Amino acid sequence: MSTREGSLEAPTRHPIDWKSPDFHDEEKLNAELHRVYDICHGCRRCVSLCTAFPTLFDLVDESKTGEVDGVDTKDFGKVVDQCYLCDLCYMTKCPYVPPHQWNVDFPHLMLRAKAVRFRKGEVRFRDRLLSATDAIGKLAAIPVVAQTVNLMNNNGAARALMQKIIGVTELQRKFRSFFEDVVRKRTPLVLTRGSRPEAALIPYEDYLRFQQMQESEVLARFDQVWTRLAQLNASFSEEEIAADIRDARQG
Ligand code: SF4
Ligand code: SF4
Repeated sequence: MSTREGSLEAPTRHPIDWKSPDFHDEEKLNAELHRVYDICHGCRRCVSLCTAFPTLFDLVDESKTGEVDGVDTKDFGKVVDQCYLCDLCYMTKCPYVPPHQWNVDFPHLMLRAKAVRFRKGEVRFRDRLLSATDAIGKLAAIPVVAQTVNLMNNNGAARALMQKIIGVTELQRKFRSFFEDVVRKRTPLVLTRGSRPEAALIPYEDYLRFQQMQESEVLARFDQVWTRLAQLNASFSEEEIAADIRDARQG
């Protein structure tokens, strides 16, 4: 089994052990979250990828011990809520993915944690995934999307076509007329503080449409992950899966 950090070998993706009772065992899940969070805390390479990692590092840094053991396991889910399963940390950053002996597969662990919470009925998974400002991190938390958003914001011509830009003070002065513009003329307003766009006023129907759009994107992504896992697992026999999981755990 490989022990080299940042190996040039293609990562091995172990099948997910979803048929095992251990998969849904909360205590075992928390032990695995603790183990992987601890490795991530020592590494911190993924801090800029999404909001899951900064959430984890803040929890650790603000804990009494400054280590993962100082974080209440009840807060482990706060990290899970921020992961929208984009797979970037696995695909692009992590030097500890299998075959490295540390066997870190952060997205699969997040998927497992979401599945456990869903099965417990603690939350309606779909609601939780979608409602958290956090959960989706929203897409603007992904660097490449953030760049696109910035590009749009900096593109004066495109912006002028789409919306009005106003300062907060001006809004306070002329709130009623701006409100009418938004509701009747369907002109979005982008509110700035200084030169910084900070919020937007849009018609409520557009807001609902926007939410649905996000929902379908996230659910599509989630479906892709499940499909990928099912396909991956289909190419292994039950015995191979059991042996693979055993090896991974021994690693
Ligand atoms: S898979 Fe989750 S934790 Fe990893 S980069 Fe994507 S959102 Fe962040
Ligand atoms: S997922 Fe891997 S690269 Fe990212 S912080 Fe954790 S250990 Fe480091």
